[in-house]
Amino acid sequence: LNHQVVIVGGGSAGTTVAASLLRQKPELDVAVIEPSDTHYYQPAFTLVGGGTYEMAKTARPQKSTLPEGSTWIKDGVATFEPDDNSLTLNDGRKVSYQTLVVAPGIQLNWGKVEGLEETLGRNGVCSNYSPETAPYTWECLKQFRGGNAIFTQPPPPLKCAGAPQKIAYLAADYARKHDLLSESNFQFYSGAGALFSVPDFVPHLEKVAGRYGIGINLGHDLVAVDGERKVATFQTTDANGDKQTVEQPFDLLHVTPHQSAPEFISQSPLANADGWVDVDRNTTQHNQYKNVFSLGDASSLPTSKTAAAVRKQAPVTVKNLLAHMNSQPLEGSYDGYTSCPLVTAYGKVMLAEFIYDGVVTPTLPLSPFKESRFYWFVKKSMLPPFYWNQMLKGKEPDIAHKPLNA
Ligand code: FAD
Repeated sequence: LNHQVVIVGGGSAGTTVAASLLRQKPELDVAVIEPSDTHYYQPAFTLVGGGTYEMAKTARPQKSTLPEGSTWIKDGVATFEPDDNSLTLNDGRKVSYQTLVVAPGIQLNWGKVEGLEETLGRNGVCSNYSPETAPYTWECLKQFRGGNAIFTQPPPPLKCAGAPQKIAYLAADYARKHDLLSESNFQFYSGAGALFSVPDFVPHLEKVAGRYGIGINLGHDLVAVDGERKVATFQTTDANGDKQTVEQPFDLLHVTPHQSAPEFISQSPLANADGWVDVDRNTTQHNQYKNVFSLGDASSLPTSKTAAAVRKQAPVTVKNLLAHMNSQPLEGSYDGYTSCPLVTAYGKVMLAEFIYDGVVTPTLPLSPFKESRFYWFVKKSMLPPFYWNQMLKGKEPDIAHKPLNA
């Protein structure tokens, strides 16, 4: 197999880039390598877990989302041979390319927590991080009669770093509405050292957690779950630097799985030392192989991994890829823009928008630190159709994000 442009992964990033390339240059020969039959709008999984969005609305057949005019190679990539401008599929076929875009997302490592896979989806153990398990979160909420509710976040990296908290706030709001909050003990356990990566948001999020009485336990990494006994085990490091384990009983346990660069990326010549596709943080071009670009969760772009970030990365990648093909200088520059709609209650969202180095950059003249009904409406009703009909169709222009306060 041989194509002018080969795109690895038909998720948010791969599909957007493919569509935008073909919109601008319909004569291009673009192939997308994607093993899955279904494209999911993952940002709505949080709302599915909260019982306020239908699971079916998050899924569309891959063949309806991949752009017309592209070739779909329905398989996964096993290895890359960039010195040869080629890669090898799981079934052993070789694919060669002129230009390559690598966007296979992040890998969920459910097996890192002992006992988790055996009990996930039962015994009150749920997770919004996969389409198979997000609906069970809502079942757990409906069955919750008070008691210990635990929400976990692994140490970085993870996609949508706000998602582990969002479901804690929705669950606490649900308990509050059903007069269960006073009979409950809500605890958030994070393997990270801070509640959120951008310090400006932390006091505001602490206030939200405080309102519900949610305890915040930083530096606690979930290492085991015993579903039958309903006990979660965390590892933490004490003041002397010694490792301690802490056992916590639960009635409801929402787990965010440990995540990493996909193994077939980290073991490839395309990876940096941390396993991500090693690209320039502004151009998205590979630092060594100039005909390779990468964006989205699998890339080394040092920003928070979200679909909102992909929205801004994709037009830059497309612009620079086309320039590279024409031997022109790369003029597209990504500024690190990402955004995370922090759901803080049913009907309320605090919209965190920021660029590289944690600089807060709201798009609209609204306080980014205020919980807003309008942003809830944006999250629930405006962003999904925008995603399917605008972003995935490659219609987003390469306009630099112009924050109001810049
Ligand atoms: P993905 O969209 O995950 O796509 C990767 C694709 O690569 C998949 O289709 C996969 O099948 C394919 N693939 C995997 N392995 C291979 C292989 N070997 N060969 C070829 N293809 C392969 N983002 C937001 O902007 N806002 C939010 O509120 C938000 N909330 C979220 C909540 C949850 C619970 C989750 C799970 C995610 C959330 N996100 C949110 C994050 C967002 O969904 C991702 O950041 C985004 O989808 C990344 O796009 P991507 O294309 O890099 O990866």
